[in-house]
Amino acid sequence: MYYISKTIEISAAHCVKTADEHFSEPLHGHNWKVTVFCRSAQLNEDGMVVDFRIIKDKVKNALDHKNLNEVLPFNPTTENLARWIAGQVPHCYKVRVEETSNNVAEYCID
Ligand SMILES: [Zn+2]
Repeated sequence: MYYISKTIEISAAHCVKTADEHFSEPLHGHNWKVTVFCRSAQLNEDGMVVDFRIIKDKVKNALDHKNLNEVLPFNPTTENLARWIAGQVPHCYKVRVEETSNNVAEYCID
């Protein structure tokens, strides 16, 4: 099995909705650090699990300098964002999203 990871930094805003009707989070931005983990038993014809460029394009093009509430069809928590990214990248089995170094979510396919 081959394993790769790619770390991407994006700047994006979000406003998380919660069930607490007394709390309303304002729209705010983060410099998110996203690490995408991929694996495959077989390499493609270029000798790769998946091209690092493809991973970067899938994440950056969709999310960088965006309001996540406007571009994603769900409540943009860090957890939901990790799961969504995992579904965008071929051979991805795990995504780690750092909203800040203290606030981190991981989603694993297994
Ligand atoms: Zn936030």
